Amino acid sequence: MNVQAPAADAAADMLLASPVIARVGVIGAGQMGNGISHVCALAGLPVVLLDVKQEALDKAMASMGRNMDRQVNRELITALEKAEALARVTTTTDYAAFADCDLVIEAATEKEEVKRAIYKVLVPHLKPSCMIASNTSSISITRLGASTDRPEKFIGMHFMNPVPVMKLVELIRGIATDEPTFQATQALALRLNKTTAVSEDFPAFIVNRILVPMINEAVYALYEGVGSVVAIDTALKLGANHPMGPLELADFIGLDTCLSIMQVLYEGLADSKYRPCPLLVKYVEAGWLGRKSSRGFYDYTQTPPRPTR
Ligand code: NAD
Repeated sequence: MNVQAPAADAAADMLLASPVIARVGVIGAGQMGNGISHVCALAGLPVVLLDVKQEALDKAMASMGRNMDRQVNRELITALEKAEALARVTTTTDYAAFADCDLVIEAATEKEEVKRAIYKVLVPHLKPSCMIASNTSSISITRLGASTDRPEKFIGMHFMNPVPVMKLVELIRGIATDEPTFQATQALALRLNKTTAVSEDFPAFIVNRILVPMINEAVYALYEGVGSVVAIDTALKLGANHPMGPLELADFIGLDTCLSIMQVLYEGLADSKYRPCPLLVKYVEAGWLGRKSSRGFYDYTQTPPRPTR
């Protein structure tokens, strides 16, 4: 006789009760939205990708194609799998296209007011069972969830950049998030071949609570003249065995996103150790956002990219 422990029974029941995700919506076609669409489509899921800008959607499809080409060249996927995956992605600027989605993952700009405005327009188009995940790097999941009509079906699903390469997804429950939503998003992460780490709903969660203050400190080191861009990046690459230097990584993440995360930490934890470096603020004010604007701590119009300080 197969006797299961009550806890195992409960877990099995919960898994059976968790909603199946057969169709995914993604909001924001920037570097993260495009990566999330990429991995969902390759896993066989139809994806609806929305942005305010048609230009962002066109760029996202082109870069998804290029990134999949890289996987074809490395024999990780076949040309047929690439073609089938791209065919599963529909792009749109109209929220009505989310009507049949089981989960919508929001990966728009890291600004609370932008995300809240999106949810307001989004929810009337969703079926009642549809779950919403935010890919926010730092903002309270409880607060974002409370701004929707379904806080129990709202969760943080924090993918890492670049999504097709990085193995981790942080899962963050808001105070109201129910267990079926957690189970369903965890099952999706596993289907996407990712490993999950569960974080409590504190500012910037686990990864960015540790990573982004380190980047901010590197910008302070540059600001105070402790070292040049190259010296700081070389020091951390060779001295701490980091694959990328902190300033190179900041450019990769996006300086606007780094600044927003520091602001959330500073305001959310009320501790002066999280004060954003004035030089980071100045770069963002100048529109020097890193790779995505071709200039940050490096100038990407040059090959190889040239340090700007
Ligand atoms: P991005 O600047 O590359 O892209 C943001 C996209 O959102 C743009 O295409 C923009 O047009 C779109 N957008 C803005 N307002 C919109 C609206 N009202 N409706 C629909 N689309 C809208 O930013 P990103 O790096 O892809 O970051 C997106 C989210 O993912 C943020 O919450 C960020 O914190 C998070 N994130 C970023 C990283 C990273 O390394 N960059 C890693 C993990 C999570």
